[in-house]
Amino acid sequence: MDANAISLQEVEELVASRRGAFAFPPALEARFERETGPRRARFLVKTTLRTAIIYNLFILCEYLLAPDTFLLATALHLFVVTPWMLLVAHLLPSITSPRWRETLAASIAVAMVAQVSAIYTITTSEYAARYIYFAPMIYLCVSAIQRMPLIWGIRLAGTIFVMITAANILRGETPAPVAIVNAMTFAAIAGVIINSNYLASREQRRLYLLSVRDQLRAEMSDSDANADALTGLGNRRFLEKRARALWDNAPMQVAAIIFDADHFKSFNDTYGHSRGDTCLKRIAACATAELRETSDVAIRLGGEEFLLLLVDTDAEVAEIVAERIRATIAALGIPHEGNPRGVCTASFGVASASTRNATLEEIVERADAALYVAKSAGRNRTQRHDMLRQPAAA
Ligand code: GH3
Ligand code: MG
Ligand code: MG
Repeated sequence: MDANAISLQEVEELVASRRGAFAFPPALEARFERETGPRRARFLVKTTLRTAIIYNLFILCEYLLAPDTFLLATALHLFVVTPWMLLVAHLLPSITSPRWRETLAASIAVAMVAQVSAIYTITTSEYAARYIYFAPMIYLCVSAIQRMPLIWGIRLAGTIFVMITAANILRGETPAPVAIVNAMTFAAIAGVIINSNYLASREQRRLYLLSVRDQLRAEMSDSDANADALTGLGNRRFLEKRARALWDNAPMQVAAIIFDADHFKSFNDTYGHSRGDTCLKRIAACATAELRETSDVAIRLGGEEFLLLLVDTDAEVAEIVAERIRATIAALGIPHEGNPRGVCTASFGVASASTRNATLEEIVERADAALYVAKSAGRNRTQRHDMLRQPAAA
């Protein structure tokens, strides 16, 4: 499991809580960003390029509304703002921090409004008062298109408001009543946009949360179906799945260890089935402790019999692993009257072969034959199939 894993229970709690969609724990937030960030970056690149085209069509309006500053305005369009937009579009896909991504995206509107405000402060055109209306228009269009997260939407609106106000003060022509009405209008527009972006973003995060929940639920029921209920080891179905994957891959050496609790019937008879179950759980845990979590497979074949598959492992190494598990089980010291050793023990059979030369069934049969010999030779021991005097199979 990766370190960023989030549990189903955590996700269920978030779904149930009212503010769950905005209170992602860091692991989930990171996963959300990983899964949705690149798509958002692509979207912002596309809208930035389209915005650049539309913005430059408005050079015509510079000519119509502020002819005296037309050349300067055109130069700002073509040599300052547009190159900045292209640079942003170029940088966006490689930026992994959502914070920098949204900052860059917001800078598009800021750059355009800065250009309009600058021209507004110096133009002598009689239409100047109309010209400055471009500024809130730009904010309106860009922020509606970009669908900024809440906090960025608020920051952008604040920045644009300050810029327009500064331009008005510098120009010093706007009568107070008009300035007040303009400010109120801007606040109303910004409020509507910020709110609708907030609702959209909440919906998106909520849907994401539900999709993660469904995914985790599916994984959970899948692992239930693959696990043995008593010991938590895999079951036969899991074994088949893993074996199929192993045998479909490039040939490799696979070792099978089969082990079986000794005199276990008498353990149950003496101590009861429930203590028998506890004993089996502890025996299973001894085995898993010795395995490599990602590649090895531990299965409860049924009853008090277990199978381990070790990938990339020859008989010699598998025997060492088996011996370690055998010694650990005996060292648990679980009292067992009916066992000549006085404690619970298990017997082990080991076989190894390349997946090129043997099927899973063949390797398991060999390990089983070796286990049979270990049992007859007195139990609490490990027998390698390739060390048998007359191997049952080559
Ligand atoms: P051997 O040393 O030859 O393996 O003897 P054994 O008694 O362990 O073998 P046998 O196959 O005769 O008996 C297996 C016993 O394992 C029978 C049953 O009581 C016990 N057993 C099987 N499954 C379970 C289980 O899920 N829980 C418990 N508690 N006991 C089980
Ligand atoms: Mg047994
Ligand atoms: Mg048995």
